[in-house]
Amino acid sequence: MGLVLSQTQVTNHEIATDVDELSMKILITGGMGFIGSNFVRYVLANYHDYRIINLDKLGYGSNPDNLRDISNPNYSFLQGDISNITTNFDNVDIIVNFAAETHVDRSISNPQAFLANNTTGMLNLLEICRRADIQFLQVSTDEVYGSSDGREFNEEDRLNPSSPYAASKAAADMLTNAYHKTYGLRSYISRCTNNYGPCQSPEKFIPKIIIRAILGRPIPIYGSGIQIRDWIHVRDHCSALDRIIHSGNHGEVYNVGSRIQVENINVAKQILTLMGKPHSLIEHVQDRPGHDIRYRLDTSKIQRLGWKPIIGIDEGLKETASWYLQHASWWNWVVNEKTLGPAPWKENW
Ligand code: NAD
Repeated sequence: MGLVLSQTQVTNHEIATDVDELSMKILITGGMGFIGSNFVRYVLANYHDYRIINLDKLGYGSNPDNLRDISNPNYSFLQGDISNITTNFDNVDIIVNFAAETHVDRSISNPQAFLANNTTGMLNLLEICRRADIQFLQVSTDEVYGSSDGREFNEEDRLNPSSPYAASKAAADMLTNAYHKTYGLRSYISRCTNNYGPCQSPEKFIPKIIIRAILGRPIPIYGSGIQIRDWIHVRDHCSALDRIIHSGNHGEVYNVGSRIQVENINVAKQILTLMGKPHSLIEHVQDRPGHDIRYRLDTSKIQRLGWKPIIGIDEGLKETASWYLQHASWWNWVVNEKTLGPAPWKENW
């Protein structure tokens, strides 16, 4: 491998100044996955008296190593499925729902699993919240708006999802909204753009590039690679969720993004350059069916709450590549021809 990148230090976000100082008890669902585990760390680092229960079924996006080092008495883990959990969570203040089937490619191969998990599964959480009057934050995605022609989507724009994954997330947003209107559920919805950072499953775009580069293998790029995404570092996403929980209004949707717009092909080139690998590793492969050309969000609503992203893409990508280089034992038992393959939607998951 022979590559050593300097570890970029990215400091914790400053604690929001208008935060409710009282202790909160948060049920984080899907907290053993990529964003959820980063959010667990974020809350424990910034709110020393908050208690967290992490409920996760330990599906494919999860990795128990994500939080193995946490020995904080305010943190506990519960293995379980949001679809059938019956525990009484009366003393929980808010459920932050990260739990979902998340890989678009897998949703093309196996849409039923996505609909069952991400809609009827999450409905069980809404019922728990309704019965015990618990607040609910649905962690949604910019993909619910579908492809943009260049215009920034705001929270009022119509939902127009392209993939079964995005459609299942849009349905979950609709259900959350319906529970707010019908039952007065104290809910929020966040819609964030593409995340990157430590602990993301090797199947996803940026980790796959980094890991294949480490292994000296060709980097598959879908189609021409001109698809444009807004890349946000996962810790900026976490601080946005923090802001919504502490300053947001119930019943509202908040777009979250960095407004850093990059073509996929240029993300791949940037990663290869900073890892000292040749761009000739890039190999154009068949495009994913229904592939959205561009996501673009207007994030002024959450910015009016006082939030802004602070991690630039150069710094963030360097830190991320460095993390995967230094954590081969985290990913090497997960990677195989299927998880790192060039056309995952053709696989039988
Ligand atoms: P991930 O796949 O890394 O993690 C999802 C976690 O949810 C896993 O740990 C999995 O075991 C768990 N899970 C799935 N179904 C469950 C169930 N029925 N019961 C309990 N646990 C279950 O995904 P991620 O990238 O961390 O995404 C987290 C959330 O954020 C998802 O809801 C996703 O739609 C949303 N989101 C992701 C991105 C992104 O770029 N990754 C962007 C915007 C929104």
